[in-house]
Amino acid sequence: MIICKNIKSLQEKIDSYRLKKHKISFVPTMGSLHKGHLSLVKKAKGKNKIVIVSIFVNSTQFGANEDFKNYPRNTDKDIKLLKSLSVDIVFAPYEHEILKYRTPKLKLSRFSIERILCGKSRPQYFPGVGNIIIKFFDIIKPNYAYFGEKDYQQYYFIKLLTAKLKFNTKIISCKTIRDNFGIALSSRNLYLNNNEKKVALNIIKILRRTKRELSNQWKPKEIIYKNKKILLGKGVKKIDYFELRSETLKKNVKKNGRSRLFIAAFIGSTRLIDNLKVN
Ligand code: AMP
Repeated sequence: MIICKNIKSLQEKIDSYRLKKHKISFVPTMGSLHKGHLSLVKKAKGKNKIVIVSIFVNSTQFGANEDFKNYPRNTDKDIKLLKSLSVDIVFAPYEHEILKYRTPKLKLSRFSIERILCGKSRPQYFPGVGNIIIKFFDIIKPNYAYFGEKDYQQYYFIKLLTAKLKFNTKIISCKTIRDNFGIALSSRNLYLNNNEKKVALNIIKILRRTKRELSNQWKPKEIIYKNKKILLGKGVKKIDYFELRSETLKKNVKKNGRSRLFIAAFIGSTRLIDNLKVN
C-alpha cells in the first residue's frame, strides 16, 4: 500500500495504473475509520480495480461553532486497517495543497437540496463538501466513487453534482452499517458516553417504529409529529429535523412512492443523523 501526501505523486501513481488498463475506485473519507467506511472499501475492490482511499478532514464543511478542531483523528490506526484490506493507495493530502488547488469545474452550480435537511442548519456543509469532492474528482478522475447511504443527502448531492459537471465517475451507494443494537456507525459516536449511547439507540428505534406505523396507516404528518414527541421524551435533547422525503428528496411522497425517513438529533452536544428506507 502506498501513502501519498501530495497531488503530484498521487497522479504519477494513478497514471502508471491507467497505463496497465486498471480502473480507479475512490472512497473519500475523513478518517477515524470504522466498519461503515470499511464496507465501502470492500465494495470498491474488484478485478482490475485500484482502490484509493482519501483521509482528509475537510475544514470547509464545518461551521464556525462545529467540531472541526475536535473531530477524531486516528491516521495511524486507519492506515493499519486499510493495509489489512489491501487498499492500493491512501491519499492523505496536505491541507494547503488541496485548498489552493483550482479547477474550472469549481464554478459550482448550486442545488436546492443544499438548503434542506442537513443544509438548513448547516448551510456551509454542502458547498464545503462539493468544493472538496470536485477537487478530488478532478485530481483522481475515478471511474467509480463510493458513498454511504448513512449520509443519503450527501450521496444524492454528489450524484447530482457529478452529472452536472460531467465527471466520468459512476457514483455507487453503499448500505448503512449499524452496530449490534442498530445504531448507525459514525466517527462522531466516539463522542458519546455510555448513557448517551443508550439514548442514541432510540433514533433507529423511532425510525423503525415510524416506518411500521406508516405501513399500517399513511398519515405521515401525524405519525411523525407523535414520534418526535416520543423521541424527545427519551432523553434526546433536540431534533433538528425528522421528515419523510422521496428518494430524490422531494417533500411530497405518495403512499407507494419510493421514500425515506430522515432524522438529525442532538444527544447531549453530539449531532447524529440517520435515515431509513420506507418504500
Ligand atoms: P466520513 O468519514 O464521515 O466523511 O464518511 C466517509 C464515507 O463513509 C461517506 O460516504 C459516508 O456516508 C460513509 N459512511 C459513514 N458511516 C457509514 C456507515 N455507518 N455505513 C455506511 N457508510 C458509512
